[in-house]
Amino acid sequence: MNEYNCFRDRDLVDALAQRIRQRISRKWVIMEMCGGQTNAIARFRLEDLLPQDLELVHGPGCPVCVTPQTIIDQAIELAQEPDVIFASFGDMVRVPGVNDSLLSVRSKGADVRIVYSPLDAVRLAKENPDKQIVFFAIGFETTLPVYALALKNAIHANLNNFSLLTSLVTVPAAVASLMEDPENRVQGLLAAGHVCAVTGLEEYEKLAHCYHLPICVTGFEPADILWGIYNCVDQLEKGENSVRNNYSRIVNPQGNIKALEACNLYFEPIDQEWRGMGIISQSGLKIRKEYEHYDAFVRYKITQKRSCYTEICLAGDIMKGKIQPTDCPLFGQKCTPDQPLGASMVSSEGACAAYYKYKRNENKAMSITL
Ligand code: SF4
Repeated sequence: MNEYNCFRDRDLVDALAQRIRQRISRKWVIMEMCGGQTNAIARFRLEDLLPQDLELVHGPGCPVCVTPQTIIDQAIELAQEPDVIFASFGDMVRVPGVNDSLLSVRSKGADVRIVYSPLDAVRLAKENPDKQIVFFAIGFETTLPVYALALKNAIHANLNNFSLLTSLVTVPAAVASLMEDPENRVQGLLAAGHVCAVTGLEEYEKLAHCYHLPICVTGFEPADILWGIYNCVDQLEKGENSVRNNYSRIVNPQGNIKALEACNLYFEPIDQEWRGMGIISQSGLKIRKEYEHYDAFVRYKITQKRSCYTEICLAGDIMKGKIQPTDCPLFGQKCTPDQPLGASMVSSEGACAAYYKYKRNENKAMSITL
């Protein structure tokens, strides 16, 4: 029994699902903005408990999935430099570039290390002074504070052999881009609790107001997600568009001030490409000029280019809420976790991987672990 078991309590989950069924009176489309929530929705088969009028779509909340292919190819090229140890989170090494992945170049001799934290990469830099350590720094506002801490540690240790290859994205600009899409279907949003724990709610208040969008800050356990959905449906039914903090056991409306200060010290906003979604104005972060010594783009004179997409992967449309993973003709046929054709099938937070693992055989009885 752990402290989270109460959020998986079967009676509580059933009661929340019942409240949603009683509250809804028409069709609504709600998007969750976090790959962890996408995974939990599929894993606990929460959609089976919801009314048919409610459609859940799976937004761009998986950090691996939104990292553009160009940067993956640049990472692969950098990893093959003779003096480089290229460090990355595990999921990223399997994402296919145009011809290779970090994993495949490792099998050809590149020194690619899987680490759990950028702080491990700082340690590698201390242990290998004759090598250049490059860490593939991808992700949302959630991981940003630990990148700031890694930079602080590298500066404190006066390391000259450590840098970050960044592909850092911020949620609010992506939400705005989704809302401004003429084909947008999303009417309510579940915001990611761990992102809001860092950023606070101010930007979400602006989004709710500007786009008449009900937003519920939501956690990751089944009861959290159903509570977020209920509050979203409740707002939609009332015609409200505010931010409800349904994850107040973690999220302070002001965010984490210390973490934000550290992030602002080392990073500044830029226009950023999101895989499958194109370039979104001021939706990313780069290392500030004062610290560019630690920026792999500067150190290796890499020009940031826009990806040229000829790929057949439809993950961009999935992340915009236009289709579901099973609508992709390659899903489970030519594209599987063993042979992924898109990043969404690689990461455990990708919608395609979650559907493949938990939902591909809808007719088979599957146990709901609650
Ligand atoms: S099934 Fe594969 S190819 Fe299709 S959208 Fe998902 S990741 Fe892309």
